[in-house]
Amino acid sequence: MSETPLVLRVAVPSPLHTLFDYLPAPDTDPGTYRPGVRLRVPFGRGRRVGVLVARVEGAQVDPSRLRAVEAVLDDAPLLDEPLLELGRWAAAYYLAPPGEVLAQLLPPSLRDGAAQSGRDRAFYRLSDEGRGVAGVPGARALRQQAVWQVLARADAALSQDQLLTRLEGFDAPALRNALRALMARGWVSRCEAPVSGVSGVKDVGGGYATGPELNPAQSEAVEALVSALGVYAPFLLEGVTGSGKTEVYLRAIAGTLGAGRQALVLVPEIALTPQLVARFEARFGARVVLLHSGMADGARLESWRRAREGRASVVIGTRSAVFAPLAAPGLIVVDEEHDPSYKQQEGFRYHARDVAIWRARQLGIPVVLGSATPSLETLRRVGQGSYRRLALPRRATGASLPRIEVLDIRRRPMKGGLSDVLVERARAHLLAGGQVLFFLNRRGYAPALLCHACGWAASCTACDAHMTVHRALRRLRCHHCGAERPLPARCPACGGELMHAGEGTEQIEDALRGLFPEFTIERIDRDTTRRRGALEERLESVRSGRAHILVGTQMLAKGHDFPDMSLVGVIDADQGLFSSDFRASERLAQLLVQVAGRAGRGARPGEVLIQTHCPEHPLLHTLVTQGYDAFARQLLTERERAGLPPYGALALLRAEAKEGALAEALLNEAAHAAAAAPGVSVLGPVPAPMARRAGRERRQLLLQAAERAPLRQALRHALAVIEASPDARRVRWSVDVDPVEMF
Ligand code: ADP
Ligand code: ZN
Ligand code: ZN
Repeated sequence: MSETPLVLRVAVPSPLHTLFDYLPAPDTDPGTYRPGVRLRVPFGRGRRVGVLVARVEGAQVDPSRLRAVEAVLDDAPLLDEPLLELGRWAAAYYLAPPGEVLAQLLPPSLRDGAAQSGRDRAFYRLSDEGRGVAGVPGARALRQQAVWQVLARADAALSQDQLLTRLEGFDAPALRNALRALMARGWVSRCEAPVSGVSGVKDVGGGYATGPELNPAQSEAVEALVSALGVYAPFLLEGVTGSGKTEVYLRAIAGTLGAGRQALVLVPEIALTPQLVARFEARFGARVVLLHSGMADGARLESWRRAREGRASVVIGTRSAVFAPLAAPGLIVVDEEHDPSYKQQEGFRYHARDVAIWRARQLGIPVVLGSATPSLETLRRVGQGSYRRLALPRRATGASLPRIEVLDIRRRPMKGGLSDVLVERARAHLLAGGQVLFFLNRRGYAPALLCHACGWAASCTACDAHMTVHRALRRLRCHHCGAERPLPARCPACGGELMHAGEGTEQIEDALRGLFPEFTIERIDRDTTRRRGALEERLESVRSGRAHILVGTQMLAKGHDFPDMSLVGVIDADQGLFSSDFRASERLAQLLVQVAGRAGRGARPGEVLIQTHCPEHPLLHTLVTQGYDAFARQLLTERERAGLPPYGALALLRAEAKEGALAEALLNEAAHAAAAAPGVSVLGPVPAPMARRAGRERRQLLLQAAERAPLRQALRHALAVIEASPDARRVRWSVDVDPVEMF
């Protein structure tokens, strides 16, 4: 035994903000413990798969109290040094548990110990016969029963390593014995690979179709990007809707590939933008892979490997793809950089755009953030001179931008949320052969159900929220916790008559069917697109001209190209004007401009009508008369005055528990600890804007600072206190650095 034993520092998935120390497995070569390999380790009474992040000689803990690693799962590191460093930075910046961060860097099928290649090619699953039995009989077959249960619950075949992490009290020989016995019964079969197809990897041939001749603004942008290859250089590509941003990405990527490097392209939601993926595939063919959570695990793993080994040149993915391994990184594109879906809202709460910037700097490559409506964060960086702005001021096809008009609906006759003016304008467009889009960011039939006699309102029993009426389903649904109940016919309190308050997309669709029976209508929202393929079908129905009227939520604001869409009607701009969330007006403006951008993209001039009860609202006024940039400047001034992001930094500590007092007590302790850091104001704890959700009382604590360093210091103090508190186990709590939603 040497004086200073080798200690392995492992990121094990767990809510704890710490790494865990282990000793090497007995009789293993210390050389196999290279940072970036996965290790199976004992953890509590079970076992988990973690990632080795560092080797140290001697831990702070007495080595005799450390447990040994059970197995090394990879011959070579899965994560290279830059990715490990990215993980370390992200864990520190977001105050996230390192084990959860590192797990996020791996595709799901590698998180629980599957073999990545070569070794352990065998997978096990229940045979049809094994699936037919109710379990393994006999008191002496407990181990077989346990294995049978795990396999019955799994949706794919599992390797021995995966089985071991899901079983308690098993070692490898015991597992092998149980598997052998189950196979002898014919209940388990062995197969070579966990999945058959790799459907997420597109192989469409295609080669290098060249695009249209670039206009001068596009050429300038492409040149700037390509000449920055090989150095860290952040850009904002600010181009109005339809200005040819995608074409700029495609050319810059072609240049990147020409230099023998890979491109990583982040998009908000792949399912919402099938056209975009198709354009990339048409240009780059089989060298494109997708990486997003909608993919089957096997397909995702295959994309991940191809990116890592350099067999893919273009990786298109959503938020989590910002952590994709890249053999030869050359360029990062963040399309629609303002989109809120880049922020992960649970667990490890990172912002993919911000991670992309850090990663580009780390790798020394250019990164381009594209948007028609850039976030205020990005605009501020441009103003400071740290990002370079590339502008595409005009639509690439020569079409002009739509004319935007604010429609004062005070005292106007309304039908199902639609004013007479909007209806008549829609009729004119439809009769002239155009298509019309109605936008309302609220699904369901009506956001509330009230009693006309006594004022009773249908509220959720678990949340501080009204239930939404879903009339076709005859159900009431809570959009916050998912609770449902049948739609009552009369008021449950007094038997009086019930009435709907407000409108959702379902009601708009109903009203339009009554008004325009001769036209085909498609509704696109989460309710009508649950079935796989439904969204694509509905989009295609509009694009092909079969449907004339489109109704939907913010799903319609994302880059769709409908050439014959000539009128966009915004049903209700008012919801966003009165929110308590300081980001609401920024979000509203982005949505309005994006959805307006669906109009007039083809030969027909476009028109946008915005219904509102507050036509004089200064923000709305600036947006409509002077455009998004003027609007953003005005908002930046307000934020600066208030010390809100992008001026100053925020962090939100959230806590929820069955009893509000518990959550409050924990945050109070955190508040005291945080207040010890100078330069940080601590606000709260206060009830969250929705104080009760899913049966839990919710409290929050806001930390605000002019600089990041003191903020992080305060958070570290607060976390130390929370983790040491006995209350923490009865409270669900989280920390959110740079929160984008305040509740
Ligand atoms: P954005 O991504 O900014 O919304 P796109 O790249 O999708 O814009 O371009 C909008 C439309 O203009 C597309 O139909 C595209 O094919 C077309 N387009 C792009 N660049 C040019 C160009 N230089 N000349 C002609 N058409 C172009
Ligand atoms: Zn009543
Ligand atoms: Zn609820």
